[in-house]
Amino acid sequence: MSEVFEKFQKYLQRVRQYGQIQTLLYWDMKTGMPKEGFEGHSEALTFFSTEQFKLETAPELKGYLEELNKKEELDLLDADWQFIVRRMKRDLERNERMPEAFVAELVQAQAESGKAWEEAKGASDFSIFAPHLEKMIDLTKKKCGYTHPGVEVYDALLDQYEEGMDSQTIDRIFGELKEALLPLLKKILAARQPDDRKFSAFCSADDQSKLQKFLLSYIGFDWSRGAAGESEHPFTLNFSSKDVRVTNHYYENSPLFAIFSAIHEGGHAIFEQNVNPKLDGTAAGSCRYMGIHESQSRFYENVLGRSLAFWEPIYGDVQKLLPAFSDITLEEFYREINHVKNSFIRTEADEVTYCFHVMLRYEMEKAIFRDGVKVEELPAMWNEKMQEYLQITPANDAEGILQDMHWSDGSFGYFPSYLLGSIYDGMFLEQIEKELGPVDGILRSGRIMEITGWLGEKIHRYGSSRLPKEVIAQVCGREVTAQPLVDYFTKKYTDVYGL
Ligand SMILES: [Zn+2]
Repeated sequence: MSEVFEKFQKYLQRVRQYGQIQTLLYWDMKTGMPKEGFEGHSEALTFFSTEQFKLETAPELKGYLEELNKKEELDLLDADWQFIVRRMKRDLERNERMPEAFVAELVQAQAESGKAWEEAKGASDFSIFAPHLEKMIDLTKKKCGYTHPGVEVYDALLDQYEEGMDSQTIDRIFGELKEALLPLLKKILAARQPDDRKFSAFCSADDQSKLQKFLLSYIGFDWSRGAAGESEHPFTLNFSSKDVRVTNHYYENSPLFAIFSAIHEGGHAIFEQNVNPKLDGTAAGSCRYMGIHESQSRFYENVLGRSLAFWEPIYGDVQKLLPAFSDITLEEFYREINHVKNSFIRTEADEVTYCFHVMLRYEMEKAIFRDGVKVEELPAMWNEKMQEYLQITPANDAEGILQDMHWSDGSFGYFPSYLLGSIYDGMFLEQIEKELGPVDGILRSGRIMEITGWLGEKIHRYGSSRLPKEVIAQVCGREVTAQPLVDYFTKKYTDVYGL
């Protein structure tokens, strides 16, 4: 190990401490903090994140990275560390190109825009949010000019969340999916729909929490390196691969919500627990690609968790833990968890119509950044697209264009990652079946850990050290395509709805 590498390691360790304390503050803020604690926690978070930013852009670090990126130093490092030092150098250069005054303006505008969005959503009035949205669009364009000079803005945005992904590829795969899915959805909606009345039966939060514990253990969440809490919205948070936490929210008359949130967050968490601990706290640890991350949560939630075979070995346990389910048969349960219906809210949508919720947002973001569509034209555009894809029109802005917070803080380009995740899932499913045999058979015999093991070996352990397109090429041996997802949907829903 060279001297500069040793110093660099020590420096990284210092930076990591600031990250740890922020993660802990954030966890506490969302799960245990009393309301009046908000100010103190936010101040501390701002303090530690500013300190961390200073360390991450300090001349000392820049010096180490310059040295380590020289050929003779790089040659001494293994592939992971080569990736890490190259990545850090690039990120530091990107950050440096943003003038300090611009960063301050952006942070300020995000805070104001977030507040305006909340107010607008509460009042269901887009006009309250419109000027802030306009400003966020403007600042986002400027930001991309600094971080990705010479790259088209929307491609730069996609690259932020799913590095290496571009609109040309997404146009192709979303196009494949749309063409096949629109006629399938029509057939599904015309078929007989399940009776969902039994699914609003009372289940206590305590019982639901016990079921969550059972399900997480079942799919492979390691409790010696994980914990669970309660929050307004479910999320996953990790300190390192050795401490990964999930939250859930228990609605006492809507037990399916917590069941599938548990499995979804469990998928994110198992990913983080399985990252090679050697990468902890580095630019290659903790997966930073949203599409790949979402592919894992959605694989557990949808591909596995909404199959009949997943529940066959454990449905008796579910009924024991949730007494209200004792008069719901497994067949009824299976039909309801795959109930397809046109609805307004993305986060409540089934896995089929969900695709259209994302396509709509993707097309609108392209219209904003590529075609220069004006902010005041957006609500009408939203409603037209809802009509085109799902044949429904929101009654107001709150259940239409104001429902998601993503645009309020400038997270444009994030939405496509959700659907990319599902598209990757189709490909992973196909590959697992080639290598391990039919997934239904594995699940039915209670051997789900074989699947968790496969995902860990092929995907999780690498953390961020491979770009999404590389993951797909190396795991599946082909280019990204929506065809396997189309096949999965067609086979599954033909069966569920007897088409
Ligand atoms: Zn997720």
